[in-house]
Amino acid sequence: MKPNLEKRSLYSFTINDLRDHFQENGLSKFVANQIYDWIYKKHVHNLDEWTNVSKKVKSYISENLDTRLPRIVWNGLSVDGTRKFLVAMTDDKTVEAVAIPAKNNRLTLCLSSQVGCAIGCTFCHTGTMGLTRHLDSSEIVGQFLAVQNFLNTESKGEKLTNIVYMGQGEPLHNFENVKVATQIFTDDHGLMLGQRKITLSTSGLVPQIEKLHEFPPVNIAISLHAAHNNIRSELMPINKAYDLDRLLEAIKKIPLKAHRWITYEYLLISEYNDRKEDVDALEKLLDAKVSKINLIPFNEYPDSDFKRPSENRIKWFQNELMKKGYITTVRTTKGSDILAACGQLKSEMEDKINLWD
Ligand code: SAH
Ligand code: SF4
Repeated sequence: MKPNLEKRSLYSFTINDLRDHFQENGLSKFVANQIYDWIYKKHVHNLDEWTNVSKKVKSYISENLDTRLPRIVWNGLSVDGTRKFLVAMTDDKTVEAVAIPAKNNRLTLCLSSQVGCAIGCTFCHTGTMGLTRHLDSSEIVGQFLAVQNFLNTESKGEKLTNIVYMGQGEPLHNFENVKVATQIFTDDHGLMLGQRKITLSTSGLVPQIEKLHEFPPVNIAISLHAAHNNIRSELMPINKAYDLDRLLEAIKKIPLKAHRWITYEYLLISEYNDRKEDVDALEKLLDAKVSKINLIPFNEYPDSDFKRPSENRIKWFQNELMKKGYITTVRTTKGSDILAACGQLKSEMEDKINLWD
């Protein structure tokens, strides 16, 4: 399928944009509510089925706007219920989205924000791809809609309840598109996802963290992974541009009323950053009153250089942090049998074929 370069996607409009757009084009701005209702509440994306929308509006939309959604070209179900989707954009570039079930009927969608990633963290499977391009806001929203449609028609109609920007890409590198997508996700006229149900994870792009007051106040997770600059620079080249001091300074400026807690993701790598001196360095760096620590035991993937610590070591590290007063969780690895776990996303078809056939 070829991208339609002249037509703007219908899924890139916030409701206010859509109202303005209709008004500017001689149509009633109130139609925007009906359309939001069809696409985001009823999940009907075929214009012919929009019974309360006039022919005039429908023909305007089909002539001037792109209503295609990304396509799910493959999906795989893990033994733990995690489902991974390979989602193709209209230019056939693919990204991955992963639906992760949890207690209380929660179903979290892990979304990609870019095709590939420019940050190049040494432990990350996606990081080895480099950046191909940013995703447009409609392509971020489109992943959600395509997966929800899949669940409605090909599964048991489970509802996606939460979003994490933890798929491929660095969401703050694609600030504007991720911001617009988040506004669309949280709009009361549409999907109505609470801001607290959305988590954005960043590797630490300081200038964009300093602009987070412009962003809907979603949960923020910082990929810290090391409390020493030399280790962090080895893992994450971005630390050479924005070191721990600058990162922590920028985080202090995130409006705290909205973000009472900042979550720090800490990748645990065997005999590398899982030592007592790492616990002590974390204590110096993070204030336990406003910081939660989410330990992520390293997920190994083919050819990865690092090793996952033993279960005992992971428990020990968690305990040490808890003794120092930190709320500390260990991320359970989901979907690792289908390479859907953190850091294992890499959407080349050969990967899929090698791993699944
Ligand atoms: N680019 C953003 C969001 C996507 S990555 C970021 O880096 O924060 C989501 C999380 O998965 C990050 O904390 C990332 O560091 C972690 N991750 C990447 N590779 C991993 C691996 N091999 N094992 C475990 N976690 C990994
Ligand atoms: Fe990019 Fe995040 Fe992977 Fe780093 S960990 S390369 S920022 S996706």
